[in-house]
Amino acid sequence: MTLLKNVYFIPISSYSETEKISDGAKKLLERVIKDEGITLEKNIPLKVHFGEKGNLTFIKSDNYQGIIDYLKENGKEPFFIETNVLYRGDRTNRKNHVRLALKHGFTQIPIIIADGEIGEEYEEIEIGMKNLDKCKIAKQISNQKQMIVLSHFKGHIGAGFGGAIKQLGMGCAARGGKLEQHANTVPIINPLQCKKCKKCIESCPSEAINIGLFSRIKKQKCIGCAACISVCPHRSIKINWIGSISRKFYERMAEYAYAAQKNKEIIYISFALNITKNCDCEGHRMKPFVRDLGIFASTDPVAIDMACLDKLSKREDRAVFIRGRYILNYSQSIGLGNKEYNLIEIK
Ligand code: SF4
Ligand code: SF4
Repeated sequence: MTLLKNVYFIPISSYSETEKISDGAKKLLERVIKDEGITLEKNIPLKVHFGEKGNLTFIKSDNYQGIIDYLKENGKEPFFIETNVLYRGDRTNRKNHVRLALKHGFTQIPIIIADGEIGEEYEEIEIGMKNLDKCKIAKQISNQKQMIVLSHFKGHIGAGFGGAIKQLGMGCAARGGKLEQHANTVPIINPLQCKKCKKCIESCPSEAINIGLFSRIKKQKCIGCAACISVCPHRSIKINWIGSISRKFYERMAEYAYAAQKNKEIIYISFALNITKNCDCEGHRMKPFVRDLGIFASTDPVAIDMACLDKLSKREDRAVFIRGRYILNYSQSIGLGNKEYNLIEIK
């Protein structure tokens, strides 16, 4: 018989109640640590998402203050940890990424970008699963024994919804790992934008790029490291998204999530607040489209995502999230967690 994990929940009716959210998150963290008998190490990473430039609906760092205070009061030294993104933007390299994070208010504790300057630092974690044998997990995440994964539960254009599993799978992968999760792992060159500067050739570790009359990336040689995307000064190398959202995409993301949490003790805290249709990587103004639910905490990434979805009404669920349910089934089948859970509501 499987022992069901607890999911703790504090209802919060408005994202504007920053103090209540911050206190609630602290209360949840304390409760999980006590009930699950967790002893935290001195240095504890808080996996976050800093929000894309122009995005206004990511979870602001003030809401994490209670968690930070609790950790510091208990002699811990927390730090924010995050990885570079796959596409070109302000979070593509470490320097710009940190600058944006500071501008977005993540100033309370140090920031570590876990996969190096442009996503080149990773460890291959062996998992031996249906789709992937190994996963490229950001080096400074693979080194950690413990982590607190702070997720913003919201919709996602590809995954249906984003929560703890996505924060682990996509959020902890180095750039090449992010690319690998999409079905088409070979990027494409836009000939109309390419200025033939050949910077991409210098960065390619496998001589896969031809720049000339017919510029192209050779499928047989490309190892999907995504370095060329990050170095092209003219943004002319793109991810081939066509056909990339499929069952394979969900399965690979779940397998990456499995690799990211392998041999780690993790506490998941999900903020189901300010819930937008698309994710915090969207660099434009969005409005929340379902009501605020509250904060959830657990040691099971599948249970916590399931609990967030279960709190939605049928109408809200159908609106966008239902597409993502396949990932929960697959995640459970590979042993990432359990869709069933005990819900404990804390007032
Ligand atoms: S780096 Fe970009 S612009 Fe320069 S040759 Fe490569 S694809 Fe073209
Ligand atoms: S993804 Fe990596 S291996 Fe493939 S073409 Fe770009 S730099 Fe080369």
